[in-house]
Amino acid sequence: MTHPPVTLGLDLGTSGVKVVALNAQGQVVAHSSRTYPLLTPRPGWTEQRPQDWENASLDALREIAAQLQALGAVPLALGLSGQMHGAVFLDAQGEVIRPAPLWNDQRTAAQVKRIERTVPRADLIARTGNRAVTGFQLPKILWLRDEEPTAFARLAHVLLPKDYLGYVLTGVMATEPSDASGVGALHLDRRDWDAGVLDALNLPVHLFPQVVKSWDVTGSLRADLAALTGLPTNLPVVAGGGDNAAAGIALGLSSARPDLGSVSLGTSGVLFAPLSQATPDPQGRVHLFAHADGGYHLLGVTLSCAGALQWMRDKICPEVSFETLLTEAQQVPAGPRNPVFLPYLAGERSPYMDPDLRGAWLELSLAHGRGHLTRALLEGTAFALADTYEVMRPLTQVTTFLATGGGARSDFWLGLVAGALGSRVERPAHEPGAADGAAILAMPAAGLYPDLTSAMQALRTVGTPVSPLQTAPAYHNHTAALTQLYPRLQPTSIVRPTTRAGVYMD
Ligand code: ADP
Repeated sequence: MTHPPVTLGLDLGTSGVKVVALNAQGQVVAHSSRTYPLLTPRPGWTEQRPQDWENASLDALREIAAQLQALGAVPLALGLSGQMHGAVFLDAQGEVIRPAPLWNDQRTAAQVKRIERTVPRADLIARTGNRAVTGFQLPKILWLRDEEPTAFARLAHVLLPKDYLGYVLTGVMATEPSDASGVGALHLDRRDWDAGVLDALNLPVHLFPQVVKSWDVTGSLRADLAALTGLPTNLPVVAGGGDNAAAGIALGLSSARPDLGSVSLGTSGVLFAPLSQATPDPQGRVHLFAHADGGYHLLGVTLSCAGALQWMRDKICPEVSFETLLTEAQQVPAGPRNPVFLPYLAGERSPYMDPDLRGAWLELSLAHGRGHLTRALLEGTAFALADTYEVMRPLTQVTTFLATGGGARSDFWLGLVAGALGSRVERPAHEPGAADGAAILAMPAAGLYPDLTSAMQALRTVGTPVSPLQTAPAYHNHTAALTQLYPRLQPTSIVRPTTRAGVYMD
């Protein structure tokens, strides 16, 4: 085909930036990526330099422009996606004040407590969909005010990572609801900043950019950057979506079809459930965000999923492949005398929101070997997802989960997850990511589809069902074990191995 029209999607991730060019059939015709460093200036702090994002993104865009030129393909619009929750602090001239703290930065415990004291938790959840969370952007701004007052005195604008890149590309400051709802101060029903919450915290609303729709054009590529990258001058730049929402768009997860969700077995485990109405968990044990399609979605995050297997392999048996570990685990029959694994190696997000929680193998005996430990680990991650799903279940209509992430390559692991969730799980034919979702969000502006709904319908991924492995009845006590053991594993009341068989990790 000559001169096929494409849209570009850019995902500004934590380890690097990825750009894809999709044709109207959703096929990737070109892609490029660049990495950048993660700064950890103090324990619990994670930062990146916005200048690194900018340099890497412009490089990746230059590479993809050259590929498209060679193919004779014409880019019609660029959609943005990226890591959520980070804070890019800018002065009145739009200059970056300091490196940006990221989504997984843990420095804001005191500021989270202050938010909770200022805005009652139930009120904050009803308005913004979430309780105050350490990683969100809002407590980062309070931290800047408390800890770096000279920097705060210069502060004129705060942007999310992908929106900062949009500002660099177009000169326009804007955001959209899916990412903005991860700030912690977006009124979910109105899909705009909550002046009440911001007033209570003594923060001016004008620190934050205008909120447009995720598929809206925010501006066009600056002429100097068009010349630098080789992309068309005035290329429309589309607001896009936060990385979870954009990945959901790419998988065809739509709030108009709330029966289809996703489960991701990546480093973290993520359950995504689209919703047509903003219905939060009253206790805020799972996140509620605006979806990039105009609706909403619940997000449950278990911090150690495939990351737990990676930890075991790297730290305990570095010479053994993932495949060997999974085969050994599969050879161990299910049974009530198997050990139980609590996967809280990095604390937990959903449903406990407890950074101090720690992991354990319990019920060990001389009969157990590595296969038992691995099987328990896989089951433990499956039960942690099921534990989170129990909180989401009354709020969602999901009947089928599309499975993604490295762990989903294993039929055995995915079978355990399907069994624990008690829902239909399907493996998609291909696994598009957030960059693909950003490119799809740009398709209406490019004129490739009349609206986002028709683009998502046309590009929907087909899934193949996975056979669930029965974890009950032999294991139903183990599912309950997570909930029952959680309070006993808090540092103040931890049960040490002298009183109960187990290995505790700090
Ligand atoms: P991330 O969330 O960091 O992008 P991935 O989705 O790429 O992570 O998943 C990587 C993880 O997948 C590894 O840490 C490992 O636990 C798991 N993994 C790797 N190979 C396999 C395999 N063949 N089967 C199941 N899981 C695997």
